[in-house]
Amino acid sequence: MGWSLTIGKFGETKVRLHWSFLLFIAWIASLYFVRAGAAAAIGGTIFLVLLFACVVLHEFGHILAARHFGVKTPEVLLLPIGGVSRLEHFPEEPRQELVIALAGPAVSLVIGLGLLLLLGFPPFALSSEGTNLRTVFGQLGWINLFLAGFNLLPAFPMDGGRVLRALLASRFGYARGTRIAASAGQVAAAVFGLLGLVSGNVILVLIALFVFLAAGGEAGVAQMRNASLGLTAADVMITEFESLRADQPISEAAELLIRTNQHEFPVVDGKGVLRGGLARADIIKALHRDPATPVLDAMQSSVPVVTANLNADQLVRHLEERAPMVVVTGADGRPAGIVTWDNMLELMMIEKARARPSAGLG
Ligand code: ZN
Repeated sequence: MGWSLTIGKFGETKVRLHWSFLLFIAWIASLYFVRAGAAAAIGGTIFLVLLFACVVLHEFGHILAARHFGVKTPEVLLLPIGGVSRLEHFPEEPRQELVIALAGPAVSLVIGLGLLLLLGFPPFALSSEGTNLRTVFGQLGWINLFLAGFNLLPAFPMDGGRVLRALLASRFGYARGTRIAASAGQVAAAVFGLLGLVSGNVILVLIALFVFLAAGGEAGVAQMRNASLGLTAADVMITEFESLRADQPISEAAELLIRTNQHEFPVVDGKGVLRGGLARADIIKALHRDPATPVLDAMQSSVPVVTANLNADQLVRHLEERAPMVVVTGADGRPAGIVTWDNMLELMMIEKARARPSAGLG
């Protein structure tokens, strides 16, 4: 999701800031500065950093719950509207997803109630002059309660959307459950958008747009995942493909790009063992620099590698991470097949046509 900055690693989870988050902090700080001077700008920034720490704790609620079920989380991305945890794979059962989804809001609720109980429930006041600690932490307490409530709205990408999906999935199955939950999310987004337009609140309109797109994306991934349920990587991989050798010049890779309809190539060493992968963009970039560049210097060494018996629905998650392809290797470390995003889209179309043979046209 665009450019982001890694700010730390806790356990096995990298915490990253999206650029829009920095922009958001700069925007708020400058608002404070214009209105009330430098001290207020610093106070406002500190408040935002505290708030952001609470959002991280909320995300770690999800992450620890996921780890309890054996699901690792390699990365959390922080956006101005909240955090997005990328789980390594999907939780197996709806009940697990339910617990993981509820764990984040539970953390926000505990922080919020804890702060407010400690401070004797101060009234909520959004004043930029409130530099005393009681006001600051009082506000933080109320905002955490708001975060818990907002996140429980039954719409993707909020946690409530996942709660709803988990509840529906245990009854209607994963794909249908997601479809219903995603539609609910888009209805909620339409309501937000309308409220935002009527009240002239730009932020509400932006949130609505984000929710709308996220709900659509979630439904797409669920569909793809559903099409691949019960299949393994071996069932969906491309088995007729060309590989490149690490010592070949990039000009030969460019020739291969034209001669085949492949856009991604596994790179192997002299013994045929996988060393990395080369995507079309890598070839063009290196060619521009110097046609004699060896493939080794232009390739990505960290392409995801899986074994043939991996469940195919896990491939979607790898490809979602913007990997150009997933390479399936045999026991000897040689590429046996590759899986690309196009490849998964084709699988989805085929499975859809099989499931409803009468719904041909339209
Ligand atoms: Zn959450």
